[in-house]
Amino acid sequence: MNELFQKVLAENSILLFCYLIGSITFILGLKMLSHPASARKGNLVAAAGMLIAILATIFLYRTENMSHLGNYAWIFGGLLVGGVIGTLAAKKVQMTAMPEMVSLFNGTGGACAMLISMVEFNKIMEHHPEEMHRGHLLIIVLGAVIGTVSFAGSMIAWGKLAGKIKDKTIPGAQIINFLLFAGIIGLSIALVAGFATTLPVFYAILTLAAIYGILFVMPIGGADMPVVISLLNSFTGVAAAFGGFLYDNPVMLTGGILVGSAGTILTILMCNAMNRSLKNVLLGSFGGAKPGAAGAAKEGGGTYKEISMNDTATLMAYASKVLIIPGYGLAVAQAQHTCHELEKVLEEKGVEVAYGIHPVAGRMPGHMNVLLAEADVLYEKLLEMEDANDQMSSTNVVLILGANDVVNPAAKDDPSSPIYGMPILEVEKAEHVIVNKRSMKPGYAGIENELFFRPKTSMLFGDAKKVLQELVTELKQM
Ligand code: NDP
Repeated sequence: MNELFQKVLAENSILLFCYLIGSITFILGLKMLSHPASARKGNLVAAAGMLIAILATIFLYRTENMSHLGNYAWIFGGLLVGGVIGTLAAKKVQMTAMPEMVSLFNGTGGACAMLISMVEFNKIMEHHPEEMHRGHLLIIVLGAVIGTVSFAGSMIAWGKLAGKIKDKTIPGAQIINFLLFAGIIGLSIALVAGFATTLPVFYAILTLAAIYGILFVMPIGGADMPVVISLLNSFTGVAAAFGGFLYDNPVMLTGGILVGSAGTILTILMCNAMNRSLKNVLLGSFGGAKPGAAGAAKEGGGTYKEISMNDTATLMAYASKVLIIPGYGLAVAQAQHTCHELEKVLEEKGVEVAYGIHPVAGRMPGHMNVLLAEADVLYEKLLEMEDANDQMSSTNVVLILGANDVVNPAAKDDPSSPIYGMPILEVEKAEHVIVNKRSMKPGYAGIENELFFRPKTSMLFGDAKKVLQELVTELKQM
């Protein structure tokens, strides 16, 4: 017995040490993720920590009766299936479909938290319902509710982004959601306080939480989904942290808290960058604005001038400084590599080239940074919005590639515009502005862009990749 006790003690110290390593790697990894140059390594560092924590739990953790977890075939079978699906999905995913994948993966995190709570509640009911500890029950119920909302909401968000679910305004949705929320709180109190601690009540709470998750995300404009996904991500983190409390597992607790706080900070940053409150994102229709709605694009808003490929090439070849503004369209066209080629051709001609990056350009935080890093564009060339704006007046040519809202002057000039107050890239301070997009259609916010009709602006229509390829060919011939 003494020998077993010594063994358990030794194993427990190693297990705790592994958890400490795991927690430290999560913090270091997250820190490294904040810079594109170290982001890849940060991801690997945190993943290595997670692997250590998982293996340590599988082989060193001891249950109440001092035995190891066992069930190795199930555990490793699950790890294998999950690992293969995850790897294939991550390898195959298109950059533009990244928010969908994040949503799907986040949903599985929420489902995990929900399942943990289900297992733990069933265990209590089967074995010792009379010794039920209220604090323990509270943690189980909180993990179950938050995990279920996150799971259901993430699945709807994924469906919307994948175009499988349409935006739907549900009449009286706010009242229904309020009633659902009140129902969840009421039943949870009854369950935790011991008035109705039964399996049917627990499953009723889960059902209401699932309906709440669906209805809460359903009316939100499809294009606002990245903000919602970030919010749901923070919910999953909190639910996982409750799992950490439940199992007295420090690494699960640290991981959950980090995900929860990072998700919350990201949600706030995204709202700030769009100059919108979270309430406005959740209740407003900015992302869902359709032509014809207030502030939507008007037909024939003015006259614009077009520029030929040859003139564009000439203007750029004789410029001393060119600033490229990438946007969502560049990602759609997958033109990042051709864009890098353009940069190199211009530099060979002695032109100074940099990129102006708006914090919400594209459809996810850091979208443009990731996109351009994929094409090996040097990180030093990516100017943050404030720095790009400082350099605008000394720039000869601004080339806008598939960006729209992030250069829309209405954000500064028109108080009635839905994007009023959003900081923008002030391209008009440059000498010439060339806009590449396929048509005069609006961008994400569904509103017209007066920049396209201003005297300094010339439109270069076409798919970004095709246009850039032709531009590079033209420049090489000069
Ligand atoms: P926008 O969505 O405003 O505009 C993109 C433009 O790209 C469109 O007007 C479209 O015009 C053009 N485009 C599409 N496909 C192509 C193509 N193949 N080749 C060339 N052009 C193309 O993008 P921005 O990046 O300027 O702004 C991002 C918007 O997304 C902001 O409103 C932001 O608030 C929002 N948002 C961003 C999030 C983030 O985290 N980054 C999260 C949530 C929302 P056309 O059809 O005529 O070609």
